[in-house]
Amino acid sequence: MRRNTTNVVLLGSTGSIGVQTLDVLARLSQSGRESRVVALSARTNDTLLGEQIQATSPQVVSLSDPAGAQRLRRRFPGVTVLDGEDGPAKLASLDDVRIVVNAIVGAAGLSATLAALSRGRTVALANKESLVTGGELVRDALATAGGRLLPIDSEHSALLQCLDGGRRDDVRRLILTASGGPFLGMERAARAAVTAADALRHPTWSMGKRITIDSATLVNKAFEVIEAHYLFDVPYERISVLIHPASIVHSLVEFLDGSIIAQAATHDMRIPIQYALTYPERVDTGLPRLDLTELDRLEFRRLDEEEFPAFGTVLAAAREGKSAPAAVNAADEVLVSRFLRGDLPFDGLARGLALALEGWRAEFGGREQPLALADVQSADRWARAFAGAFDF
Ligand code: MG
Repeated sequence: MRRNTTNVVLLGSTGSIGVQTLDVLARLSQSGRESRVVALSARTNDTLLGEQIQATSPQVVSLSDPAGAQRLRRRFPGVTVLDGEDGPAKLASLDDVRIVVNAIVGAAGLSATLAALSRGRTVALANKESLVTGGELVRDALATAGGRLLPIDSEHSALLQCLDGGRRDDVRRLILTASGGPFLGMERAARAAVTAADALRHPTWSMGKRITIDSATLVNKAFEVIEAHYLFDVPYERISVLIHPASIVHSLVEFLDGSIIAQAATHDMRIPIQYALTYPERVDTGLPRLDLTELDRLEFRRLDEEEFPAFGTVLAAAREGKSAPAAVNAADEVLVSRFLRGDLPFDGLARGLALALEGWRAEFGGREQPLALADVQSADRWARAFAGAFDF
């Protein structure tokens, strides 16, 4: 193996972040930053995974779907193909890996994050559910095995950059920005009638379906508050959210002396992906640049929590801690898929989440000391059943 070559494991390679990560790795190689993709994982898309195998020649891949995995084995006899749900965690534990990019969508990403961190690896984390559902477990794994977590989420990449502008002890608060989604300022009655197609039209970012719906309810922003809490070890009362429709300033840090340091860039996820891969260095790989003179105005508004009731529910779950955020996350995953199928009105999302949290308190409240992965998984299962049966 050549020196100076970074060995990368990419989990969730066929999703939006996975595809963009491969683009960034190719750009970095062209800029003299050699990397080698040693492993890829996907859930069901064996067609795209097959193309990625041809392009990157990994030693081992994992596809959750056994039938698709069998097709890949026939096509690529020289590549080890794992199947089943534990494939990503196995890839995250491979030897001689510099960085594990976790771009898995959903709660399934947690076990891979824990596997990588427990071996002292660096994890570039796009799977926010790792911190939302298992923040306490991730924190313990970081403390015991000496691994490192670098955020791929744009807001947290911004916070990481802003925090370098001062001492951690001098931070007054973290400020996450939120676009507010497509229904910002819409009347309550009109909001109740919006369809999945309306909600999938995000004003600034192009993303996966679930995260786009979660941006319209601000559930995604509440998840990002939880992420920030665990990534930077800042208490919830010192993390706030500002509505910033243009999504140009990705987040800010206010210091004790009144200085606010902000990070701005064009909204292209490849920028935070690349920063996580090259941290703390910066490389010009020809990604789009922000022209400040083209900006009309930069507007910041207070978040009206009554306009976004699901936001407060997720944060209430965060303050409960233990498996409450895992339950709310699982409920949200199911509620969003029901909304996308037309099986639930838009305001059913917030209502369903509030009832799921109430149900969690009755079912699990105060019983998990300390939290284990099995607790997270059983709260997840319970919440999925609850949200699947919930009748608006
Ligand atoms: Mg984000």
